[in-house]
This record gives sequence, structure tokens and C-alpha cells, in this order.
Amino acid sequence: MAVIDLHTHSTASDGTDSPAELMGAAAAAGLDVVALTDHDTTAGWDDAVAALPAGLSLVRGAEFSCLSPTGRPGEPRCPVHLLGYLFDPRHEAIVAEQSRLRAERTERLHTMVGRMAADGYPVDADTVFAHLPAGGSAGRPHLARALVAAGVVGSVDAAFADLLHDDSPYYVPRADTTVETAVEMITAAGGVAVFAHPLARRRGRVVEPAVLVDLVGYGLGGVEVDHPHHAAADRELLRTLTVAHGLLATGSSDYHGTNKTTPLAEETTDPQAYDALVARATGVGVVTGAATA
Ligand code: AMP
Ligand code: FE
Ligand code: FE
Ligand code: ZN
Repeated sequence: MAVIDLHTHSTASDGTDSPAELMGAAAAAGLDVVALTDHDTTAGWDDAVAALPAGLSLVRGAEFSCLSPTGRPGEPRCPVHLLGYLFDPRHEAIVAEQSRLRAERTERLHTMVGRMAADGYPVDADTVFAHLPAGGSAGRPHLARALVAAGVVGSVDAAFADLLHDDSPYYVPRADTTVETAVEMITAAGGVAVFAHPLARRRGRVVEPAVLVDLVGYGLGGVEVDHPHHAAADRELLRTLTVAHGLLATGSSDYHGTNKTTPLAEETTDPQAYDALVARATGVGVVTGAATA
């Protein structure tokens, strides 16, 4: 049976493998299909296609930073992630919104670095942004690595736990896309929108399941059910919800290289769900590495 991992990050955002290295690692991990889903950018797509090992199929995608209703009356929107697959990367609204978000990400990380430096932490913007390619998406993990390199904390996880979590005085929020708009945008660009890790409770607030159902009306195609941060009971709840509402259920590692401990293929997607996802998309096709003679 085909082994399918539909959510990974490269150095185009906050992963530690270059897109080319990531394709090699995916083949080495025994994957038949891998999706590249960097935060708010498609900058890694071309390098990934160019480096595709024979027989490995690449689903080009991105993970969109969004704000969602929580489904609890009176509560402000909360940050969520939305996976977009196989959308046309030249779609005007997507190009504009991703570039706006990347600019915000950069500015906001500069502010975070400035606040920490002012408090005496040995961090500076040059180090934090040193390895970010053109069109890349800066994120807290870049700052976390700089803190590890400077000996302030022992690991990226510790950096988040101690200094970079959402309630930290150094944390600066972003004006993310509203999730309804993002679902519509991805769908209009011929892509398939899948709500990423909706019940990853360790990241902070999560949405009520009813929010996922409401998004079906905007074009939501699926829900990431199997994710390393999902508890068993939450997976069952989400699986039942996908069946009841005709949504695709996906599974993926959310691999970030050495920025997180989860290896590729830790969680996978059922081939039937994958086939249905590909059949729905009209933006760009899946690319498979050609056999070399
Ligand atoms: P940002 O996009 O800058 O808000 O940072 C969020 C990113 O940080 C997520 O996409 C994860 O890749 C990463 N992240 C969040 N929490 C943690 C954590 N506890 N340990 C390591 N990485 C994390
Ligand atoms: Fe990330
Ligand atoms: Fe995510
Ligand atoms: Zn992710």
C-alpha cells in the first residue's frame, strides 16, 4: 500500500531540510507520496520538483496562517492553520496574501528579537534571519534556533516552553487571514483546503468541531485527523465528523526536520482519501520523479 505523508516543512519556512534534502529524506523514509506545505509560501516548490527522486510523487501545497472563530460565543478568534493542496500558485489573491503574511512574519520576528535583545538576551536579527531564502517564511522556530545556538536554552522545544509561547511577553501576534477567506481563496485557485491539526491542544486554544462543519459551506475539503499532536479520542471524534459531512480525512507527520522530533511517515493518509483529494484539485498536478535510465 502506498505510504502517503501530506504535511512537511522545508527551509522555505521553519523546517531544517532544504526542499531538495526533504525530497531525498522522503524517499529514504519509504514514502510514495509527500506533500510540501511550508507556512505561507510556495518558494520551495521548484527546488523540490527539480530534486524529486525516481518514483516519489510530490503534492505541492502550503500551510496558511489563519484566524478562526472558536465556536464559543464571545471568544475572540484564535490562530489556526489551513493546508492548501495543488492550488494555482499564480492565483492573484493567494500571491498577494502570502506576500503580505511573509512581510508580517518578518516584521513581527524583528520586534520579538528587539524585545529580547533589550532584555539582555544574546540574539540579533542577522543571526535569526541568516538562513532564510528569498520568498521564505520567518517564524518563531528561527528565533528558537538562534537561542539554542547562543546557549540560552537547550532545545527548540525549551525555547517555546520558556520564552516563545503565545503568552510570553516577547510574543507578538500577526494579522492572519480569516479562515473562511482562506478556504475560499484556495478553492477558487483550484486547490483543496484541509483544516490542519484542529485539535492540537498543546498549542493553545482549539476550535469547537462545529467550526469545521461551518467551513464546509465555504468549500472546506478535508480535516487532518491523524496528527502527532492529536489524542486518540480526538481522532475518533474528527473521523466521525468527516464521515458525517463528506470531508476527506488526512494523516501526516508535520515534519520540521530537527526543529521537531516527529519523523517523516510517523502518520500517513489513506490512499483512497489521497486519490479523492487529487481528483478534486484543478490548480496544479501531482509531479512524480522520472526513472533515470
Ligand atoms: P509562528 O509561525 O512564528 O507563529 O511559529 C509557530 C511554529 O512554531 C509552528 O508552525 C511550529 O512549527 C512551531 N512550534 C510551535 N510550538 C512549538 C513547540 N512547542 N516546539 C517546537 N516548535 C513549535
Ligand atoms: Fe511550523
Ligand atoms: Fe501547523
Ligand atoms: Zn505544519
